[in-house]
Amino acid sequence: MSLNSDDVNYYAHLYNRVNDYTNRIRILDSTLREGEQHPGVSFTKKQRIQVAWLLDSFGVDQIEISPIVSQDHFEATKTIIKQGLKADILAHVRAIKSDVDVAISCGASWVATYMGISDIHLSAKLKITREEAKIRALDVADYINAHGLKARFTMEDASRTDPGFLVEMCKEMNSRGIRRISIPDTVGIMRPTGMYNLVKTIYENIDKSKSSLDVHCHNDLGLALANALAGCDAGADQIHTTIDGFGERTGIPALAETAVALTLIYKSTDNLRLHMLKDLSKTISEYTQIDIPESKPIVGDSAYKHKAGTHLAAILRNPSAYEILEPRTVGNRRKIVFGELAGKNGANYLLSLLGLHTGQNEAEVLARGLKELRMGDILELYLDDRLERKILNDDSTKKVKE
Ligand SMILES: [Zn+2]
Repeated sequence: MSLNSDDVNYYAHLYNRVNDYTNRIRILDSTLREGEQHPGVSFTKKQRIQVAWLLDSFGVDQIEISPIVSQDHFEATKTIIKQGLKADILAHVRAIKSDVDVAISCGASWVATYMGISDIHLSAKLKITREEAKIRALDVADYINAHGLKARFTMEDASRTDPGFLVEMCKEMNSRGIRRISIPDTVGIMRPTGMYNLVKTIYENIDKSKSSLDVHCHNDLGLALANALAGCDAGADQIHTTIDGFGERTGIPALAETAVALTLIYKSTDNLRLHMLKDLSKTISEYTQIDIPESKPIVGDSAYKHKAGTHLAAILRNPSAYEILEPRTVGNRRKIVFGELAGKNGANYLLSLLGLHTGQNEAEVLARGLKELRMGDILELYLDDRLERKILNDDSTKKVKE
């Protein structure tokens, strides 16, 4: 990561510099698989194809979809694979041969298989022993290889699996040339350092020229992205996301937050079309009929909204005082809120917007009036280019007068 001391975020980047991994961290988006597992979410075939196009245009590396859920999903998978998108399209299936056959009949060149390998998954879900699981998994890996497919194997519930057995399974997949091994925190129980240790244990035991590692972290404690990034610090190079973070229960990392973190903090990529993020989120919200929370990072309506008087004063001079990036970079907009917290500076600005050339006294009276009204926020304005120009002009006028 090369740092520029003129960058307003320079010292933050210095603190963030933990190690010198220069790996580009990739993104697999699973909106069409994990996302559809979110309660209440179901896309039409046309919407699935549209989402795949949007994700490809945004620049994700891989897109995951499950062809085995229904005939409709099968058709969508087949159509998306035929589109010839830049991103790899992964057909996500259980680690059983008949599922792999379904992936093959979709025309897939990439297949992602998964198997729960923790003791609880083996006993409560698959009802098989570790030895039987290993035989089944290796059998499927050989079957995939015999068909010349590129493959990922997901060690489902890896974070609750006996490390000895987990490493053994990963080494077996690695020696069979399975290109990607996914390490999920299926139940969202890890803390970042724990995820680091988990991934590191596997990373140090595989031949990196044969397999790379994915991290798939669930958000049950709100730590999904932090855990995924910690996994990347330990050697993984691909994070699983969904648009707006939809997924089983509380989902997985949101595409927007992941993409911006990788671009801004990790400096691991600069070719994602970040300006599409707000629209991607809006599209999914329309398809799912689920509102985006106002406070959602990056894409929420209040992500770049400034309210408190002291903040307003600084924002009006230089938005970098309270923003890490220009809202338009991610397709969002900056807003300023006037109300009882506006203070003297906010009131002064409001008066100048109305064309009232007044002094400090009037601003103080208005600020006091807004406070006494006790009506909370009374006005919100986009602080767009036109207004920003006005601020600059006003500033230069003031300077002239001074
Ligand atoms: Zn998941």
